[in-house]
Amino acid sequence: MSGARPYVVGVTGGIGSGKSTVCEEFAALGAPVIDTDQVAREVVACGSPGLAALVAAFGEDILSAEGELDRRRMRQQVFAKPALRQQLEAILHPLIRVGTQAKIDAAGYPYCLVCIPLLVERGGVNRVDRVLVIDIPEALQIARVIARDELTASEAAAIIRTQASREQRSAAADDVLENSGPLAMLRPQIATLHTHYLQLAAADRET
Ligand code: ADP
Repeated sequence: MSGARPYVVGVTGGIGSGKSTVCEEFAALGAPVIDTDQVAREVVACGSPGLAALVAAFGEDILSAEGELDRRRMRQQVFAKPALRQQLEAILHPLIRVGTQAKIDAAGYPYCLVCIPLLVERGGVNRVDRVLVIDIPEALQIARVIARDELTASEAAAIIRTQASREQRSAAADDVLENSGPLAMLRPQIATLHTHYLQLAAADRET
C-alpha cells in the first residue's frame, strides 16, 4: 500500500475520557495509532532543530543540565504571558503538524488513528477525514483522572473547564464511543468501527 494516503481518523475527548485506552484497542486490531503528544515530545528532543528554535527564542534557561528541554522552566517562562505563549505555539505547532503528517504518510495501512486531545479546541476538525469522540459523564471523568494522575478533584475539574464541552465535541463528532462502562462493553463497538473505517478507506480510495 505504499504511496497511497491513509484515511485519517482523528480521536479526541477530554482528559481521562479514554483516548489512549481506545487507541490501544484499535492498535491490537492492527490499526496504526499516531499520538500527537508523543510527536510533540519528539520535535523538541535533544539535538533537534525544534529544540534549537526554542533556545534561540527563549534562551538556554529552558534547558536542563543534560541539554534537554526542561518543561517546567519552559512553562514558567510563558505562564500568564500570552505573547510568549503564542510565540511558543508558533514554533511548535507547525513542527508537530509536519511530524504527524510524516507518520501518517508512513502508516502503511488503509487507515490510521491520530490521537489529538485538543482537536475541537484548536479547530483541527477539517484536517482529518473523520472525527471519533470518546465521551464520558464528567463525574466519572474526574474519578478516572484522579485515580490516574496525582490531582485533586478540583484540579481535575479546573482542567476540564479549559477544554471543550461534551456538547461542543459531540457536535464535531462523526462517531462517538461512550466509555462509562467496562472495557469489555467497548470492544465490540471498536471492532465494528474498525471494519467501518476499513470500508470508508477503501471507498475513499476509489473516488
Ligand atoms: P485519556 O487518554 O483520554 O486521557 P485514558 O485512556 O488514559 O484517557 O483513560 C483514563 C483512565 O481511565 C486510565 O487510568 C484508564 O486506564 C482508565 N479507563 C479508561 N477506560 C476505562 C474503562 N472503560 N473502564 C475503567 N477504566 C478505564
